Amino acid sequence: MMNFTPISCAVKQQLLTTLCEQSQDAIFILDENLRYLSVNATYEIILGYHEDFLLGRPLGIYAAEFLSENEQAVLQDLSNRLDSTGFYEGKFSLSTRYGQTLDCHIIYRKLYVDDKPYYIGKVRDMSSEVKDKRQLTHLLNFDQLTGLPNRKVFLSQTSELLLDTFQEVVIIRLNIDRYRSLSSMLGPDGINELIKRFVGRINELKLDGLRCFSHFGGDDFGLLFESNDANMVRHQLDRLMQTCERPFILNDEDAKQTPIYCRISAGVSYYPKDDSQFSGLLTKAEKALHYVKQQGGDDIRWFDMTIDEAAANSLQLEAELRTAIDLGQLVPYYQPKIELASGKITGFEALVRWQHPTRGLLSPSNFIEAIVTNKLSFELFSQMIVQITKQLSLWQTMGFDQHICINADAAEFTYSEFYAVVSGLFTEYNIQASQLHIEVTESSLIQRHTNVKNQLAALKALGICLALDDFGTGYASLSYLQEYPFDFIKIDKSFISKIVNDCTQHAIVKAILDLAAALDMQVIAEGIETEAQRDLLSDMGCKYGQGYWFSKPVTAEAATAMLSAQYGK
Ligand code: C2E
Ligand code: MG
Ligand code: MG
Repeated sequence: MMNFTPISCAVKQQLLTTLCEQSQDAIFILDENLRYLSVNATYEIILGYHEDFLLGRPLGIYAAEFLSENEQAVLQDLSNRLDSTGFYEGKFSLSTRYGQTLDCHIIYRKLYVDDKPYYIGKVRDMSSEVKDKRQLTHLLNFDQLTGLPNRKVFLSQTSELLLDTFQEVVIIRLNIDRYRSLSSMLGPDGINELIKRFVGRINELKLDGLRCFSHFGGDDFGLLFESNDANMVRHQLDRLMQTCERPFILNDEDAKQTPIYCRISAGVSYYPKDDSQFSGLLTKAEKALHYVKQQGGDDIRWFDMTIDEAAANSLQLEAELRTAIDLGQLVPYYQPKIELASGKITGFEALVRWQHPTRGLLSPSNFIEAIVTNKLSFELFSQMIVQITKQLSLWQTMGFDQHICINADAAEFTYSEFYAVVSGLFTEYNIQASQLHIEVTESSLIQRHTNVKNQLAALKALGICLALDDFGTGYASLSYLQEYPFDFIKIDKSFISKIVNDCTQHAIVKAILDLAAALDMQVIAEGIETEAQRDLLSDMGCKYGQGYWFSKPVTAEAATAMLSAQYGK
């Protein structure tokens, strides 16, 4: 056994004294009349009073003149309990010499030495823990950007109100329209500033009957009203819409900055008419919101049964579309692209048609929106590209040197497999990349999906021609020409329809042709329906055209027949 030497009393006392002196807690000794006898260094540091000052003074004296009635009562209680049980423990706010208030945990014990009573006090400063707890509570319940209660608080306040109320309760789900575009245009700081100002404006309105205004995150908000009269809430919502019609100026110092217009969509449900249950009310407000957004946004819609029917129809459409994809009911029709000077077919645009089992042949206007909203664009593209490459391969064996344009929504380029699918098919069917053109609409580019730029550049490097479809219909047409590597511009048919008699449309088309020439791009005019339109466009220098004047979109067999005629086979 190793040598063991017990410590002496003196050493033990020395150690315990040092421990007390170095403790993180403030420790002090009081006599039987609760007068200070000694305090440790921590006490002096956190409370700011020196031992010399405190010696002989009664507990609480240093703050006597500041003690509130409540604090005096606590002091009295402490004294009584120490007398009766010799122990006291509690939470207490202590004022320091520097005027700070600390949240403290305090313990007193009555101890005897040589039959003489002493009180030992120990104070632990809990302020930072209390502050952390408050911050945590705030973090859990409030949105950090706007300071508004979050979704969790909104939901609990709504369900509580529904239990208590004798009035009508109105739930509103509100979104800012075009949030993604605004966000990519303004950047993270800009969009945050916009949200703060938007919330500030709504707060300033002091809407009557508003019980909770909550920020669920991003562009998503909830409002809860309680009122005797739902019409009053309608009026409050009108005020809210109106206040958003004024443009937002994000940087007050920059006189030249573009004002931001912030449109909103809102879905409303109310108790007791729409539902008696909280979850039903919330779902109905959300359905109404979804409906407004599908209709283009910038509106308020109160829930009614027609919304449920529309939702059921769109669900059915989605289910049918998935089946259509599985069963290969989506097929390309081909519209020839004509060289105006010679009248020769130089290629075809593939336009999707749905061979619906009961409704017959459907055009894209019946289902293309549902394809995009249900994120089926890539499935559509995959089906079309397979049929198109097979067609090109067939025409190649027949000696027809042609290209086919496929339409693509910019969202499709977010799929990483896009490039691999296309290049894989070229190899499989022995097709030259230049035989495929891809058309992207302006409207889909507005969404600014990630990766579009890289994918387009990679496809272009592979040898595929790129066309900007419906040129002139979006608000950033020119910037797209600068941003993406297009070879062709397709002038939208709305500019062609009145080109013969309307001098403004004539001037616009002329300007587009000049621009394209300057940028070394080719132009295709869409929607040529008359001979006069064709002649005029040809005279203006437009090289290619498409339209019913030449041919409507036709089946693969009919397109093959046209080529056979042209090639004399
Ligand atoms: P788009 O790409 O601009 O296609 C031109 C549309 O105009 C086609 O309508 C075509 O049939 C129609 N059109 C052609 N010539 C004339 C004309 O002389 N007069 C008139 N009034 N219309 C003409 P469609 O086939 O109904 O397609 C509508 C849109 O659907 C297309 O517009 C395109 O954006 C989209 N789309 C079509 N197929 C696909 C596809 O496979 N994938 C994707 N993502 N979108 C497609
Ligand atoms: Mg097109
Ligand atoms: Mg077009």
